[in-house]
Amino acid sequence: MSGTVYLVGAGPGAPDLLTLRAARLLERADVVFHDALVPPEILFLASKAKKIEVGKRSGRHSTAQLFINKRLVDAARKHQVVVRLKGGDPMLFGRAHEELSYLKKKNICCEIVSGVTAALAASADMGVSLTARGLSRSVAFLTTRAAAGARPNDWVKVALAADTVVIYMGAGEAEAIARALTGAGKSPATPVALVEHASLPGVRKLTGTLAQLPVLAGRCGNGPVAILMGEVYRQAAASQIIAPWPNKHSSGEQSSSSPTARATRNGRARSSSS
Ligand code: SAH
Repeated sequence: MSGTVYLVGAGPGAPDLLTLRAARLLERADVVFHDALVPPEILFLASKAKKIEVGKRSGRHSTAQLFINKRLVDAARKHQVVVRLKGGDPMLFGRAHEELSYLKKKNICCEIVSGVTAALAASADMGVSLTARGLSRSVAFLTTRAAAGARPNDWVKVALAADTVVIYMGAGEAEAIARALTGAGKSPATPVALVEHASLPGVRKLTGTLAQLPVLAGRCGNGPVAILMGEVYRQAAASQIIAPWPNKHSSGEQSSSSPTARATRNGRARSSSS
């Protein structure tokens, strides 16, 4: 009789945003397969488990995903409680679909434990509601990325239709995002807010307009960034929080480099879905 694989949300990074259900499961876990960004304080809860990092390098997603799927099945055949711990919520840009289908095909029991997704943690940090009476009645969580060979990603249509938009994994694509949206008719003056390291003590918030998005993204550091967009951020955008370049004084950083160069260089692999 195989064990159960639990797809567990680790939340956005702050250890105390983990759910009680997740914490209790981690205590019982025999083995934990976790993303690279899961903080040590959360892994520490899995005191008796073997912990295996399964972060993937960008560009090798499909091979890596199949490898993870197989490891989950092998683990479930040996152990009772197998935890697949993912950043944020496991059901949002977390490749849960692939893992669930594979486990089902192999007759392995699965359960999901929700986590706080980045969009919600970023909203809390901004102190701005995603919805607002008369201003925003719809919210879209989207990514501009599309897997190789997948059907085209119609994200522009979605971004134009929703009142408030949260873009995951978008900081490295900021220039293309701004160009695509303004090209499709969205006002360059649309308010935007970027939140890097939401929920963590090192959180960085930058605000401005859609036209400024590439510059703002260039000023983010190496951490995961959520891009928020819509009228609800108008007041925040008016305050134009444009933080200084990160690590400005460290030897490895050139403060004069262009935002685009920085955005490319700034380890966007960390922002990849896992
Ligand atoms: N399943 C995760 C999302 C994985 S995709 C969730 O529900 O949050 C990875 C992307 O999530 C990153 O590129 C970034 O856009 C966003 N993200 C994750 N953690 C974040 C954080 N602490 N602050 C800001 N954005 C974050």
